[in-house]
Amino acid sequence: MSTRVTELAKELELSIEDVTSHLQDLGVAVPGAATMIDVDTAQMMRELFGKKVEGGKYVEIPAGSTVKDLATAMGIAASDVQKKLMSMGVLAAVNQRLSPDAARKLASIYGFEVRIKIEARPDAPVAAPKPKHKSPGGGPTPRPPVVTIMGHVDHGKTTLLDAIRKTKVVEGEFGGITQHIGAYQVEVEHEGEKRKITFLDTPGHAAFTAMRARGASVTDIAILVVAADDGIMPQTIEAIHHAQAADVPIIIAINKIDKPDANPDRIKTQLTEHNLVPREYGGDVECVNVSAKMKTGLDDLLEYVLFQADVMELKADSHAKPTGVIVEAKQEIGRGAVSTVLVEQGTLRVGDSVVCGLAHGKVRAMMNERGERLNKATPATPVEIIGLNIVPSAGDKLEAVKDERTARTTAEHRQQLQRTNRLASSRRVTLEDIATRIRDGEVKELKLIIKGDVQGSVEAVIGQLQQIEVEEVRMRVLHSGVGNIGENDIMLASSTDSIVIGFNVKVDSQAQAAAEREKIDVRTFNIIYELTESVERAMKGMLAPIYEEFALGKATVRATFRTPKGVIIAGCYVTEGKITRNAQVRVIRNKEVIHTSKIDSLKHIKEDVKEMAQGFECGIVIADFTDVKEEDTIEAFEMRQIERK
Ligand code: GDP
Repeated sequence: MSTRVTELAKELELSIEDVTSHLQDLGVAVPGAATMIDVDTAQMMRELFGKKVEGGKYVEIPAGSTVKDLATAMGIAASDVQKKLMSMGVLAAVNQRLSPDAARKLASIYGFEVRIKIEARPDAPVAAPKPKHKSPGGGPTPRPPVVTIMGHVDHGKTTLLDAIRKTKVVEGEFGGITQHIGAYQVEVEHEGEKRKITFLDTPGHAAFTAMRARGASVTDIAILVVAADDGIMPQTIEAIHHAQAADVPIIIAINKIDKPDANPDRIKTQLTEHNLVPREYGGDVECVNVSAKMKTGLDDLLEYVLFQADVMELKADSHAKPTGVIVEAKQEIGRGAVSTVLVEQGTLRVGDSVVCGLAHGKVRAMMNERGERLNKATPATPVEIIGLNIVPSAGDKLEAVKDERTARTTAEHRQQLQRTNRLASSRRVTLEDIATRIRDGEVKELKLIIKGDVQGSVEAVIGQLQQIEVEEVRMRVLHSGVGNIGENDIMLASSTDSIVIGFNVKVDSQAQAAAEREKIDVRTFNIIYELTESVERAMKGMLAPIYEEFALGKATVRATFRTPKGVIIAGCYVTEGKITRNAQVRVIRNKEVIHTSKIDSLKHIKEDVKEMAQGFECGIVIADFTDVKEEDTIEAFEMRQIERK
């Protein structure tokens, strides 16, 4: 039975916010307080934060402990524990890591309760409380609002973002040449003051939801674009729901007002049907007529954004410990992981040691959207940073820590946590599996770790892979490097659901063992074309095998028997082809299929047989079916994997 976040919080006597943040540290997406948490994760949370059982025997072990660690904690020889496991039919090495569930079961044999602890390190953000809006350094001060533009396709989101950027971006030394980094800031005059607004420039609510799914609620205000000549459309409604679910205030931009058939009044009426009552109708929703194309109405729109921001009293403390959220990130040749961070609290500086999701590093350089180098970034400022060891995911939290060592150990600790959590479910991630999940629309991303013999070939491989364009599916190179595939690569893949790809390199023996243990797909290639083709096919969801039905034969039921145990045997005569022991079957009565399953047993006289050919009699037991009758036809078939063309 799964549990809601709210229920779990109550049970563990923690705030919903704390539970959410801990779950996210375990790599679990928590879009809202009503999210259902599966049994294993809930149990893990109980073990992490549950109360000590009064009077009971009790051991505390770190996540990812081995058989030996647990034995030591219980004061029992590891070899004894191993023998005990063997007597239960489990062959385990003493240094085998235990999933929380396994640790609990094993300990319970010896009458112990297990509590799994997250090691407390100074500065370790793993279990650190969310930043509070106060610090000794100066306290919170007003910060720019962060705005997302949402709306139906073709209603003008991109045009509006461009128009705002072109008219309002402070022209810098670089002549205002801007690049897409996922967010930008504009400066506006408001009540005689120069004020900044930050725009997330990935339009559409997909990005918004993806970030929220990771618990990042960076958007303060949503601008909902509605084309005046088109009105409220399905994605408009979806966007309204997303914003409302996130409790983000909405400002309506009625766009394309320049068009002759623009009808803003109709839109205002439509809005009321979705609980958005325009101010003119006595409600509190601001509607602004704009034309993104003619660049009219933009000042009014931005004014309202700032009014709204003032009402919300958005504040942040630029002296607090620096934290931020990843807006987008990619691997770039020659620069490594390039990530756009939106600073939330504190002031991020070049040289800061940071951890970010499963990544860590030092901020080596910081750029704004005009490519200008910055030394520091204050709250609500979007900056592109380089220096992380792997590419983080959008929505990952970035936190500055004391030093590089803390950053590295924290990231490693998280990877380990995620791995142990993942091992419990132990799903093998293969290129085929990912392909199937892409085809089913379950995943939209193929994560890769790439190793090559020399830097040049690594770059060539990445360069080639980046040429692959598949609609709606993204490829992300989490990590790349020169040298053989090692255990570290496997461990990283394991904690991130990635595939490891090698070009002109070998897999060292420890890595081989780790790959088997962690069920990681490792592919090595010597021909670049074969490499790119495999990846492309996976991204197109094409690697998944296709099966086709292949008819085997038919039999007619002539009599039925019931064994003393209640099993129903159909006495049959094979009329066509053959019936095989492993076949799938369909039972047909009056030309209708009444049951489909497989054969449980196939006998000729009293002997089990593998198959029975046309013209022979046999006894068939059909799985999960007792209603077989005389005159029924049994059709046998099998599913065969066929080659893709
Ligand atoms: P998105 O899919 O919401 O990002 O929409 P786009 O920004 O790509 O705009 C879709 C189409 O509408 C483009 O052809 C734009 O030129 C056009 N468009 C956007 N804003 C306006 C506007 O204010 N007036 C007119 N007439 N056309 C617009």
